[in-house]
Amino acid sequence: MSAIQFLQVLTQILFVLISLVVTRAVVQRPTRTRIDIAAFFGVTTLIIIDQVLTTVFTVIPPAWLTVANSALFMALPYLLIRLLNDFTTVPALIVRAAESGLLIAIVGLVSGPAPIPGALLLFLLAYFCVSMLYVAAAFIRAGRTARGVTRRRMEAVAVGSVLLGLAILILGMIPLLPVDARDTARLIEQLALLAAGLAYFVGFAPPPLLRRAWQEPELRAFLGRAASLPRLPDTAAIVRELERGAEAALGAPAASIGLWNEADDTLRYSGGGPRVYRSDELIGGRAFTAQRAIFSSNAPRDDPRHADLYRASNATTVLAAPITAGEQRLGVLSVFSSRAPLFVDEDLRLLQLLADQGAVILESRALIDEAGRVRAREEAIRLKDDFLSAAAHDLKTPLTSIIATAQLLERRATRQPDRPIDPQALARIVTEGLRLRTLVIELLDAARTEQGNLLGHREPLDLTALVGEIGARHHSAQHPVVVEAAGPIVGTYDRARIAQLFENLVENAIKYSPAGGEVSIAVRSGGDTAEVAVSDRGIGIPGADLPHLFARFHRGTNVDDRQFAGMGLGLYICRGIVEEHGGELHVSSVFGEGSTFRVTLPRRQGDTMDTTRANEEGARAQVGTARRH
Ligand code: ADP
Repeated sequence: MSAIQFLQVLTQILFVLISLVVTRAVVQRPTRTRIDIAAFFGVTTLIIIDQVLTTVFTVIPPAWLTVANSALFMALPYLLIRLLNDFTTVPALIVRAAESGLLIAIVGLVSGPAPIPGALLLFLLAYFCVSMLYVAAAFIRAGRTARGVTRRRMEAVAVGSVLLGLAILILGMIPLLPVDARDTARLIEQLALLAAGLAYFVGFAPPPLLRRAWQEPELRAFLGRAASLPRLPDTAAIVRELERGAEAALGAPAASIGLWNEADDTLRYSGGGPRVYRSDELIGGRAFTAQRAIFSSNAPRDDPRHADLYRASNATTVLAAPITAGEQRLGVLSVFSSRAPLFVDEDLRLLQLLADQGAVILESRALIDEAGRVRAREEAIRLKDDFLSAAAHDLKTPLTSIIATAQLLERRATRQPDRPIDPQALARIVTEGLRLRTLVIELLDAARTEQGNLLGHREPLDLTALVGEIGARHHSAQHPVVVEAAGPIVGTYDRARIAQLFENLVENAIKYSPAGGEVSIAVRSGGDTAEVAVSDRGIGIPGADLPHLFARFHRGTNVDDRQFAGMGLGLYICRGIVEEHGGELHVSSVFGEGSTFRVTLPRRQGDTMDTTRANEEGARAQVGTARRH
């Protein structure tokens, strides 16, 4: 047996076997696609049997057999277009053209004279080649937009079409070739035919093993990512990743997860904006209610109440599997496709596997969230405790002093009613009373900061003028306050709060420079923002404290209550004031050398812009100070 004969036999056996496999599938469950696949391989097998009859048994075929054989041949591209239409969408015009072409070919073949006339031959050839080219190109295009298994299947079919076209081309050219080249051409033709058969088979009806092998990389990638999914920022992000994983693993164009809301017994689907359905609605709802995976190859028919929705979202085939962790029902995972043949029954098991994996991930996320809530509750309790003990501690000192002094005065007044009241004791009561008031105001402000409710009326305000006044008020020989400014910088701010902000920063700069030293305030305009930096040459802030400096009650580890009085609320409130104005407050410091607090505030706010500009112009005319002391 020559190599060509061997290949011929091999190809014939292959096609007969494939025909048997795909026909068995039709018998098991006849669907349109399965019938089309069986028809395609059936026709190919008939052509081969005809070849066997004529070549192996060297029977001279009767004329009707030749005609039948040619007609079957012409049916191949038409059947491929039908299959293409099963897997993707072929314009109706093309389907009609293919049908008409086939009809003309058959009529021409049946009614034409014995040797096929040249014009008809040309038409048949053109019809065959154009159709094959169209099919190959369409499958290549479909493969590009598809993913996973579907992509590989489409690519296999495209390769099959190219190879089949090649085989037919060579077959047609053999009589034109020199005699000694014909054997090689036949060999190539047979090889191409064999490969085309295999490519079509794995494309149209991939055996489960191959399908699994194709799914494996996507599945592996998904499972690889699975461990990190619970740590994504929110459940919506996890749901999206799970949907993507299901799309990739199943080669589906779309997937959607519906999360169950126990309170109103609904499923909330996220894809394309949230949609809420009763927990037994849609195919997904049925899978959720029945707690088993469901395969619907025609969703509009199986769930007519939502037929429009399925049509609108291009969901002809729907596979749905419940997402359930133990007894805990979490939701449902559905994948859709506009074409039925993309999925096989076995995909349902894979989908259930992915849904189970999704359940574990969502469950872990819920546990992480719960742990976070517990931590937040504990933190809130701790903060409240801190707050109470810090507040009680700070209020107690002036209160004790006031009570002790008042009791002293009371005793003296009882014992010596005629003696004049000690003015020093009275002054102490006033000072401590004022300190108490400051502390209470600070506590109230801290509560307002917490609620984001610090600001009142905003008005145009010249920052240069304001810090100039504050600087002048705190200026002393031990702590000279230097203001650097190029001119007025006007923005729309809450005057009292901005004054409180800079008072606080300048007071801190002085308080934390016990050995004295210059305090400088630089005011700059940065286009739409104003920047004010308050710098001192004081004790500085340890690096470890910097990240916590603006937190409530945080005091530097280098300060102690006896030397530096304070509650650690001032900077917390300052940051609140700046942020409520839409700005930022930052600190930089070199421990032991000094600190700089930098405030950035937006200058213009909405409709007050013109007023702001007008005020600035006015202020520019009055304030010419570049450097004030
Ligand atoms: P308080 O001054 O009442 O402690 P603040 O919130 O104003 O509260 O400041 C918090 C902490 O930041 C202070 O305890 C101090 O450790 C540190 N701090 C603030 N300003 C300065 C500064 N200019 N130099 C050094 N440390 C500072």
